[in-house]
Amino acid sequence: MDKEKALKRVERIIKELVDGENKEIVGNIVVDILDIDDLALVKGNRIYFSKKVEKLSDEALKYIVAHELAHLIVKRHTEKFWEIVRNLYPDYIKGKREVEEFVTKTKSR
Ligand SMILES: [Zn+2]
Repeated sequence: MDKEKALKRVERIIKELVDGENKEIVGNIVVDILDIDDLALVKGNRIYFSKKVEKLSDEALKYIVAHELAHLIVKRHTEKFWEIVRNLYPDYIKGKREVEEFVTKTKSR
């Protein structure tokens, strides 16, 4: 796996989601690609992505990034949480569906 390439892609997607009107990341966010089972997880200001994200489409990865960025602010999947996801990625339902399909497919194997 080309980790550098995967990292660049994640960073580009973060930029795409955050660069916009009335949006900015406060503080420093560190991202890394690791060999983990979850597609992504947040620890403090760090977001770890699984190597599996390489196989995801941009839409699916965008959803994961928006989801994890929202978790930096709200821990649980509350109304407020989804509001943040929607704000970062208005079309998130599409990416969410793709992620769910991917998870189902990889689990049944
Ligand atoms: Zn979550």
